[in-house]
Amino acid sequence: MFSYRHAFHAGNHADVLKHTTLLAILRHLKLKDTALTVFDTHAGAGLYRLDGDYANTTREASQGYLRLVEQISSIHPSPALQDYMDVVASFNSGGSHKVYPGSPFLIQHLLRDRDKLKLFELHPTDIKTLTAHIDQLDVGRQVAVLCEDGFEGIRKFLPPPTCRALVLCDPSYEIKSDYDRVTNMVTDALTRFATGIYAVWYPIIPRPEAHQLPRKLKTLCNKTGKPWLNATLTVKSSKFITDDAGDIIRPGLPASGIFVIHPPYTLKATLQDTLKQVAQVLSNHRSDGYTVETGGNR
Ligand code: SAM
Repeated sequence: MFSYRHAFHAGNHADVLKHTTLLAILRHLKLKDTALTVFDTHAGAGLYRLDGDYANTTREASQGYLRLVEQISSIHPSPALQDYMDVVASFNSGGSHKVYPGSPFLIQHLLRDRDKLKLFELHPTDIKTLTAHIDQLDVGRQVAVLCEDGFEGIRKFLPPPTCRALVLCDPSYEIKSDYDRVTNMVTDALTRFATGIYAVWYPIIPRPEAHQLPRKLKTLCNKTGKPWLNATLTVKSSKFITDDAGDIIRPGLPASGIFVIHPPYTLKATLQDTLKQVAQVLSNHRSDGYTVETGGNR
C-alpha cells in the first residue's frame, strides 16, 4: 500500500518551501513563553542521506537545497532563508551537506524543554527508522512517535493542554483519497481546536483533486472566518527533471504549495522576501516562480 518514501525526495524544492515556512512559523510561535505542542501528521523517516542510494536515484536535492547551498553566496539571503540554511547545516559537520533533516528533526531542533512534539507515521520501514533516530536524541517524553494514521490519530490530542499548537499535515498523496482526508481532518480539527495553526503542504499537479484542495481550504476558512495564507513555489513547467547536461532524469514535481490557517501576521512578508529569492535560484528567475496570497480576516 505504501510505495512513497520521502528519502527519494528529501531536500527537493517542495521541502525547501515546506521547511522554510515551518521554521518561520515556529520562530514566531517561540516569541511567546507559553508551551507549545507541534503535531506532524505525516512524519517520514526523520533524517535523510543526500549522498545515499535513494537521493542519488532522483537527485532532487540538487534542484532544491543543494542548489541553494551552491548559490547562496550570490544573494543576500532573507533572515528566514538564512535560518533555514543554518538549521539544515547544523545537522552536518565540516561544511558537508550529506544529511538532510526532515520535519520531525527541524521541529525538534527548535523546541524548548516545555514544548512537545507528536509524530505520526505508518510506513513499516520509515516508522522504525524514525523511532531509532528519535531514540538517539534521548529527549524522553518530549517527542512521541506514534505508528498511527495521522489523519485520525490527531483527533484525540485536540485541543492540546496549553491551547497553543501547530499542526503540520504533509501527506504523500499517493492515494487519491488523501486530498479529501486532508479537508476532512482540518474541518474536524477546527471544531475541536478553533485557534490552532494548521499548515498543509500539497502538490501542484494536473489532477483535479490537487487543484481543488487549496480551493476547498479557502472556502472552509472564508466560511468559518479564519485567516489564511497560501504560498506556492513553481520550479518547472515541465514534468521532468533534467541533469546538468539537460538530459531527462525522471519525472519530477514541477510545483507545490503550502496552505496555512491562522498564519502568524509576519508570515506573508517573510515568505514574500524568502520565496522571491528561492525562486530566483531554483526557477531561474521565472516571474511566476512563487506566489503568496492571504485571505480571511487578515
Ligand atoms: N513531513 C516529512 C518531512 O517534511 O520531512 C515528509 C513526510 S512524507 C511527504 C509523507 C509520509 O507520510 C510518508 O513517510 C508516508 O509513509 C506517511 N504516511 C502516509 N499515509 C499516512 C497516514 N495516513 N498517517 C501517517 N503517515 C502516513
